[in-house]
Amino acid sequence: MHVMVLGAGLSGVTTAWYLQEAGFRVSLVDRQPEAARETSFANGGQISVSHPEPWANPGAPWQILRWLGRDDAPLKFRPTRDPAQWLWGVRFLLECLPARAHRNTRAVAALATWSGRQLRELRARLGLEYDQLERGILHLFHSRSEFLRAPERARTLASFGIQARVCSADECLAIEPALGAQRATLAGGLYAPDDESGDAFRFTQALATRLATQGATLHWKHEILGLRTGSADDEIAGIDVRTPGGEIETLRADAYVLCLGSYGPRLVAALGERLPIYPVKGYSITAPVVDAARAPMVSLTDESRRIVCSRLGNRLRIAGTAELNGFDTEVRPERIAGILEWAQSRFPGAIDAARAEHWAGLRPATPGNIPLIGRSRRANLWLNTGHGTLGWTLSCGSAAALAELMCGRRPPVAFPFLAA
Ligand SMILES: Cc1cc2nc3c(=O)[nH]c(=O)nc-3n(C[C@H](O)[C@H](O)[C@H](O)COP(=O)(O)OP(=O)(O)OC[C@H]3O[C@@H](n4cnc5c(N)ncnc54)[C@H](O)[C@@H]3O)c2cc1C
Repeated sequence: MHVMVLGAGLSGVTTAWYLQEAGFRVSLVDRQPEAARETSFANGGQISVSHPEPWANPGAPWQILRWLGRDDAPLKFRPTRDPAQWLWGVRFLLECLPARAHRNTRAVAALATWSGRQLRELRARLGLEYDQLERGILHLFHSRSEFLRAPERARTLASFGIQARVCSADECLAIEPALGAQRATLAGGLYAPDDESGDAFRFTQALATRLATQGATLHWKHEILGLRTGSADDEIAGIDVRTPGGEIETLRADAYVLCLGSYGPRLVAALGERLPIYPVKGYSITAPVVDAARAPMVSLTDESRRIVCSRLGNRLRIAGTAELNGFDTEVRPERIAGILEWAQSRFPGAIDAARAEHWAGLRPATPGNIPLIGRSRRANLWLNTGHGTLGWTLSCGSAAALAELMCGRRPPVAFPFLAA
């Protein structure tokens, strides 16, 4: 059976890989000249099993109100005329209800735990190198009141089988000595030793190369223009693409998997499919490390500023912020300035800020941060998309799960996979 995977970011490339391993003939289509050139290009680098809580939680509406009007707000709503943005916003508020937030957290925790195992197993088997570090993630609290909630968070994680221990400021320094410059303001931390970090772009590229050598067909620079239905109407008969030469062609397969990030909903809307995915923009900088002792090796999450930081070889990646602002990918200087200021004040002398690369990407987010994995309403159209804030963390598990579903088996994860 020939499966065509639409989109070659983290979701698409891992999906293609696990499908090929399961015995399917696979082809991959993307508008870019190579894998992971859009949202999977420069994310925070964290495999953050210890952060399954979605943005949509009971405290979020109050926090968003407090941040209104602030240009450096970690989560910012820039209203547009797009009804999809408003609908997504209303659904987001519904997902903030305590019972829903807890249900979503539990589901993501289960998938993330399984995904971490799949990633480790795949890496060991293929010998993949992508600046990975298995040093855990340290969540930092600069506010006493936030730190006081850390023990409760550790207990919740433990109930999901995820290890995390509360640390004093001095214990945080023992785990990551480069935190010295922020010792005075640090209230404490929560350390998840089993978490990891690594360069998602390098990982995706390495896997795409393996895919090609093992026989998959990769269609680069092919813009997908639309999906065609067949005479039966409940099936996809092909996809219309613009080739690198500018011709319009129809590519056909037996089944299709949608992994187009934030752009998927637009393409399937023409078929009457409504996917609750909306772009949530984020920013990162990647700077060369100039003083290795001052730059952290342990991946960090600043819980007070919603900024994450990962060491990628001799580079430091710092990422954060969330803007609900449509499909705009402009890199706004004031957002970058906030991230640079964070890096330079927290790790003075560690990086060469003048040579930092600036980037913005669109997280394909569902209101409750629950990805859509499984069969759509069309018999031969499958989905593996909508991973929002955790697309790197959940990539291998989601793709392995989709391959299981396409083989007619139920994946061993307590997660609400889509039913036909
Ligand atoms: C600032 C930031 C920090 C983040 N940090 C982390 C983190 O630390 N840990 C974590 O787990 N996750 C993180 N994420 C989330 C993660 O990066 C995303 O969830 C993930 O990259 C989404 O992958 P994807 O494959 O679904 O989408 P994409 O990577 O966007 O892939 C979609 C692909 O579809 C292609 N495409 C789209 N439309 C078309 C078309 N019409 N024709 C042909 N091709 C098309 C695109 O070219 C692209 O290659 C972060 C995201 C951001 C923005």
